[in-house]
Amino acid sequence: MKEFEIIKQFFTQQAVRRKDVLLGIGDDCAVVSSTEKQDVVITTDTLVAGVHFPLGTSAKAIGHKAVAVNLSDIAAMGAEPSWISLAITIPEVNDTWLSEFCSGVFELCEYYNVQLVGGDTTQGPLSVTITAQGLTPEGKYLSRSGAKAGDWIYVTGDLGDAALALQHHNEPFLTDADVIEQVQQKLDYPKPRVLMGQSLREYASSAIDISDGLLADLGHICQASNVGANIVLDAIPMSEAMNNSQLFDDAILLALNGGDDYELLFTVSEDNKVAMETALSHAGAAVTCIGQMNATRTISTTLNNKPVSINGSGFEHFSSKETG
Ligand code: ADP
Ligand code: MG
Repeated sequence: MKEFEIIKQFFTQQAVRRKDVLLGIGDDCAVVSSTEKQDVVITTDTLVAGVHFPLGTSAKAIGHKAVAVNLSDIAAMGAEPSWISLAITIPEVNDTWLSEFCSGVFELCEYYNVQLVGGDTTQGPLSVTITAQGLTPEGKYLSRSGAKAGDWIYVTGDLGDAALALQHHNEPFLTDADVIEQVQQKLDYPKPRVLMGQSLREYASSAIDISDGLLADLGHICQASNVGANIVLDAIPMSEAMNNSQLFDDAILLALNGGDDYELLFTVSEDNKVAMETALSHAGAAVTCIGQMNATRTISTTLNNKPVSINGSGFEHFSSKETG
């Protein structure tokens, strides 16, 4: 099958037709109409087989995840996703694989009214790159740099499940089938917090999505905002599956350092706290306050109201102290 046949058979078969797309797939470029009153946010993420997802991940999950990780970045900016382009490299043309991959891509696109407007199709080791664009009202985007000492730190959803799934994949140790299935779902089909991100536009002083682990991504906010933070470890939200896994201290480590959560981490001033909690109470997932920004320029952690020490993004002190 030739490249243009693959494009026609698979990538043009989408239901979303946005009014602001003047030219979609099929020309040298896509053309979208712009308005003066909006800002455009743009992001790109690549998934490489065996690096960003385990070999053997289903085609549908790869398609879903490639879109989800990009929409998660758009969500962290408080923007409404609008268009994506898709550069895919595949080792061979496999109709079943391609149509399942597309079903993963288009399911999320349809849910958020995002149109695939172009891309590139090449042969080689499996890799998927998506560029996503989104819109915010002029000047109203969120960034990593607005956090102030005294602001409260929040996360959406639960943390650590995807890291638990990955750990189990590398070295199977979980026994409860329900636990395995639930955390695997979180790894393969992350839910970008798109609507929550848009709701946060009015309230958050800074935001980021958690792709590299809570500590690492909070570190990015601290650095960009020139402040520090304290995290209350007991407050970190964990799923029922995680609690059922009975990992105890290891669960906190996974939540702090594991990646792939794709939850939002954001800061809110004391003045906006109640209004934010009210506005987000029906936005798709829980929001949990896990600590407070401060002027120290470092990240500290407390457990049972006592300080516990951490080392960079590692947690050796904590594990040895608490378990040894
Ligand atoms: P060109 O050679 O001009 O770059 P291509 O032959 O690569 O164009 O692609 C033809 C059209 O199909 C273009 O509009 C391109 O954006 C689109 N396209 C190619 N691959 C994909 C893909 N994987 N997903 C979506 N659109 C694609
Ligand atoms: Mg061209």
